Amino acid sequence: MKAIDLFSKKCVLSFEVFPPKPTTPIDKIYDTLEELKTLSPDFISVTYGAGGSTPGASTCEICATVQKQHSILSMAHLPCINDTKEGVREKLRQLKENGVENILALRGDRNPDLEPKHDFRYATELVSFIREQGDFDICGACYPEGHPEAADPFDDVRHLKEKVDAGVSHLITQLFLENRSFYRFRELTAVAGINVPIEAGIMPVTSKKSIERMVTMCGAGMPARLSRLLARYADDPASLKAAGLEYAIEQILDLLKNGVDGIHLYTMNNPDVARYIVSAIGDAMPR
Ligand code: FAD
Repeated sequence: MKAIDLFSKKCVLSFEVFPPKPTTPIDKIYDTLEELKTLSPDFISVTYGAGGSTPGASTCEICATVQKQHSILSMAHLPCINDTKEGVREKLRQLKENGVENILALRGDRNPDLEPKHDFRYATELVSFIREQGDFDICGACYPEGHPEAADPFDDVRHLKEKVDAGVSHLITQLFLENRSFYRFRELTAVAGINVPIEAGIMPVTSKKSIERMVTMCGAGMPARLSRLLARYADDPASLKAAGLEYAIEQILDLLKNGVDGIHLYTMNNPDVARYIVSAIGDAMPR
C-alpha cells in the first residue's frame, strides 16, 4: 500500500522510530514496535543514520518487520548525500524485495567525519532517481522555519516546489514548537503551488537536554512560553516532562482544529510518551 492513499479520507497519524545503536540489542526496538502497534498508527517511519550517526544497516529490516509482523505500513528514510547511485539502487532493491514501497527521500545530514559522495547534491535529485527505479511512493522533508542552510524562506519553498514537482507525493515537517510557524509555512507553500498533504512533525519535550540538543541541531525557534517552562522546572525533571507533554498535546489539538493533514510524532523510541499523547488527543483526531 502507498502512504499517499491514507490521506484521501482522514487526518493521518504516523510515528517515527530510529534503529537502535549498535550497543543496544536489536530486540529492544521490536518490543517498542509491539507497544506502538497498540496505538494503531497509520504508518511508522524508520530513520537512517540521522544526526550524523552510524548508518543504520537495520532500517530495511525494521521496516520489513513493521509490515510483516505488525501489519502496519512502514516508510524507510533514505538519505543520499553520503551514498552513490549504485548504493541507493541496491537499497531500493532490498526495500522492494521486503515489500517496502514508501520512501522518505532525504539529502541527509552532513557528517563532518565523512567526505560526501558526489552522485546526489539535493533530495530532489534522489527523488528523480527513485522515480526511475520503480514504483515507490516518495515522501519529502520540509521546514516550517526554513532549512538552516537556506538563504531565506522563499528560496527554501522554491526548492521545495522543485522537489515536489520531481515526484514527492506528500511532506513531513521538521519539528517546530510554535504552530504559528507551521500556519505561515502552509500559506507560503499554497502560494507557491505546492498542493500535496503536509504532516506536522511534533517532538514532545521530555527533558531539557534532549530539546536543547534538537533545537540546536535543527534550528527550531524556542517559544518564550517553553523557555519559561524549562527555566521553572530546571531542577524538577518529572514536572518538566509533564509540562512538555501537555505542551505537545496543546500543539496537536490546535493543529487538528486548524485542519492539519497529519501528525507525525517523533517518538524517540518511547512508547509511553506516544501512548500518553495519543490517549490525551482521543476523539479529537478523526480515525
Ligand atoms: P533538501 O531538500 O535537498 O534541502 C537541503 C537544502 O538545500 C535546503 O536549504 C534547500 O533549500 C536547498 N536546496 C534544495 N535544492 C536546491 C538547489 N537546486 N539549489 C540550491 N539549494 C537547494 N537525516 C538523516 O540523515 N537521516 C534521516 O533518517 C532523517 N530523517 C529526517 C526526517 C524528517 C521528517 C526531516 C524533516 C529531516 C530528516 N533528516 C534525516 C534530516 C535531513 O536529512 C536534513 O535536514 C538535511 O539537512 C536536509 O535534507 P532534505 O532532504 O530536506 O534536503
